[in-house]
Amino acid sequence: MAQVITDPTEAARELSRRVEKAERIVFFGGAGVSTASGIPDFRSEDGLYNMKFKYPPEQMLSHTFFVNHTAEFYDFYRERMIALDAKPNQAHLKLAELEEQGKLLAVVTQNIDGLHQDAGSKRVFELHGSVRRNICQKCGHTYGAEWILETTGVPHCEKCGGLIKPDVVLYEEALNDAVMMGALKAISQADMLIVGGTSLVVYPAAGLIQYFQGNELVICNMQPTPQDASADLVCACDIAKAFAF
Ligand code: ZN
Repeated sequence: MAQVITDPTEAARELSRRVEKAERIVFFGGAGVSTASGIPDFRSEDGLYNMKFKYPPEQMLSHTFFVNHTAEFYDFYRERMIALDAKPNQAHLKLAELEEQGKLLAVVTQNIDGLHQDAGSKRVFELHGSVRRNICQKCGHTYGAEWILETTGVPHCEKCGGLIKPDVVLYEEALNDAVMMGALKAISQADMLIVGGTSLVVYPAAGLIQYFQGNELVICNMQPTPQDASADLVCACDIAKAFAF
């Protein structure tokens, strides 16, 4: 039976106590980790979005759309996917600290903003890629997000003129096998799995935690998840506050 805590201060205290005892922690994070840093969920259709873009985000972030409407894809990508002003929050920072201390094996994330690396994390499995890497499809040269923001229309490689594609897994595209295998291996070796900022209903999140064989499952999410019943601790509060210890 899970211990459920809604008070952020109490959640941080209890999480800290359990983290202290763990030796091989893996963190698996979803969109909620980024929204706590002020990065809007691109799926939320606010007024600005409705005025500006003609297609729903799921369509604009599909492989087909990238191929057929590359310039419009990049308009959306520059405006909605790249958020370089965002800063790591307490969850990102604490996870980097735990890795530094040798207590955390890896971060597995569904986010593409690179904030875990900004915080100092080294071993990060980015299941959906990263906006920080934009790769020439012809010569493989990689461009950062800043470079993309300085371009207009369809960006082409400065070296060979090839088309540049973000290293982001678009809808209709498969996840990277090596990244997925690395994530599964880390999760299967962990003695503590902390799942944060995800409702755990969307693939691959739901499947990934099946590989966990450790004894301490912690879920940090504002809303209830289908896995709450099998967790040892549920922190039903802001994830940044749960990691404020
Ligand atoms: Zn090139």
